[in-house]
Amino acid sequence: MKVLLVFAHPDARSLNGALRDVAVAELQRLGHEVQISDLYAQGWKSAVDRADFPALAPDERLSPSTASKTAYEAGELTPDVQGEIDRMRWADVLILQFPLWWFTMPAILKGWVDRVYACGFAYGVGEHSDKRWGDRYGEGNLAGKRAMLIVTTGGWETHYGARGVNGPIDDLLFPINHGILFYPGYDVLPPFVVYQAGRLDQAEFEARAEQLRERMRTLATVTPIAYRRQNGGDYLIPSMELRPGLGAAGATGFNLHLGDEKPER
Ligand code: FAD
Repeated sequence: MKVLLVFAHPDARSLNGALRDVAVAELQRLGHEVQISDLYAQGWKSAVDRADFPALAPDERLSPSTASKTAYEAGELTPDVQGEIDRMRWADVLILQFPLWWFTMPAILKGWVDRVYACGFAYGVGEHSDKRWGDRYGEGNLAGKRAMLIVTTGGWETHYGARGVNGPIDDLLFPINHGILFYPGYDVLPPFVVYQAGRLDQAEFEARAEQLRERMRTLATVTPIAYRRQNGGDYLIPSMELRPGLGAAGATGFNLHLGDEKPER
């Protein structure tokens, strides 16, 4: 398989850097091809602004999604953005790796998503009418590929448990897993989370490293999170609400968008 790992930590000598090296070494040992987008090392520009759309007239209002669609269709995206899109098309598997910062991804990685997820490529795909709301949530240009997160947290596993004060980790990662990965079509694998990352001793590091190697070995076979497909019949169109009768009685929130299959851990 071909694997793209997008890495968002400012120092390669960090725990994240060490885990990245473990993952890449295992993937290569298995014969997979790996490319790394090391966002800090690349000096990734995070903010969407006029510099992204050089063809835009100086006096023209910048509508980011319109400008993105125009540039994508004309083949006029900036070389850094186009290069990342080419890598995403090349890869069978996308891995986003980052330390949890303020309950989400570091800004540089959010900026990668904002700029690389061009209109027409990652969103705004397919028929939009009163009968169909585009190809998204399980369909789209990245359908058939797999994606997963590697995340480290300062907080303990219990802090992110069902009754933990930080909120459940699956809820915190839902906007990334469902909104950023499932949206353009990826099958989303359960995340690999290293909790209490600031206090790992060597033995704990080795244990986490071995668990990560195992996740790399099962990339092609692990069952994806069973998000409901938008166009699979579970949602009303155009309200995009889950049909009455689906989901557990009284359930609300993110879990509604899980089907009956349970992901492996
Ligand atoms: P490092 O600091 O590089 O390493 C951590 C420890 O891992 C080291 O001290 C060492 O013991 C061990 N280690 C590192 N490398 C190795 C190696 N090669 N072999 C063996 N052991 C090693 N946490 C939360 O839970 N929720 C938040 O919302 C949150 N917000 C944050 C916001 C900011 C701005 C910052 C800076 C931190 C935040 N944190 C939060 C904590 C953050 O998630 C952790 O600091 C981070 O996950 C640790 O990863 P790291 O790669 O930076 O670790």
